[in-house]
Amino acid sequence: MRIFDPHIHMTSRTTDDYQAMYAAGVRALVEPSFWLGQPRTSPAGFFDYFDALLGWEPFRAAQYGIAHHCTLALNPKEANDPRCTPVIDALPRYLVKDSVVAVGEIGYDSMTPAEDHALAAQLQLAADHGLPALVHTPHRDKLAGLHRTVDVIRESALPTERVLLDHLNETTVKHATDSGCWLGFSIYPDTKMDEERMVAILKAYGTEKVLVNSAADWGKSDPLKTRKVGDAMLAAGFTEDDVDQVLWRNPVAFYGLSGRLQLDIPEPESLHEGNSILRGGE
Ligand SMILES: [Zn+2]
Repeated sequence: MRIFDPHIHMTSRTTDDYQAMYAAGVRALVEPSFWLGQPRTSPAGFFDYFDALLGWEPFRAAQYGIAHHCTLALNPKEANDPRCTPVIDALPRYLVKDSVVAVGEIGYDSMTPAEDHALAAQLQLAADHGLPALVHTPHRDKLAGLHRTVDVIRESALPTERVLLDHLNETTVKHATDSGCWLGFSIYPDTKMDEERMVAILKAYGTEKVLVNSAADWGKSDPLKTRKVGDAMLAAGFTEDDVDQVLWRNPVAFYGLSGRLQLDIPEPESLHEGNSILRGGE
């Protein structure tokens, strides 16, 4: 089973995770820039983080045989802090980098006017740079949040076929499907969305334009949830080809809209003899 995790925050994961992901079939991933838990107090904090997503993390992933790309943006939560909003003006110099395959995650957290502004401005940046957009949908007030999100996308210069709506569930999947956007589902341990519910959604709505991710970060999460969905699909009677469409071809097609996917990473065995990752700066 070949797997592309289209949304995972490897910055907060260990090398054991990379190894387990490779063993499970993960060969490519996209790491969206996000809120780090500790609020940042200046744009410089974002720039160091963006540089890590462009340099250090792809290097680390490659040691484990996994192709790493990222999406960059001012996240919805920090869009509410005026100390951070100048990041939007600096984004153009990052969005031209080779491994940036979308603008994201953008979208709504608490649905404030500041978030309205950041979402609209960054959809425009995606359109200007020929990039698709990864749009986070709120965890509270989900359906109202989705309606408002889709309205803003429709008013933007970015066509819905170039937008991935993420963190969908049973309450939002219908409206999201009707919008013409790509459909992202984050599978979590215990809460929000699990693999059995995902299989039920795939049975009801089909496998077209559907992407499944682990959204693993520093919270309780599981970087192998993509594989677990693949196994649950097979157990429920989906074919290997269906699984390949959801776990590989759909993410390749969506992020391929950037024209920047590079999926040829050498096998890891030759790269890390011994017990620890290369530390860079040979
Ligand atoms: Zn995320």
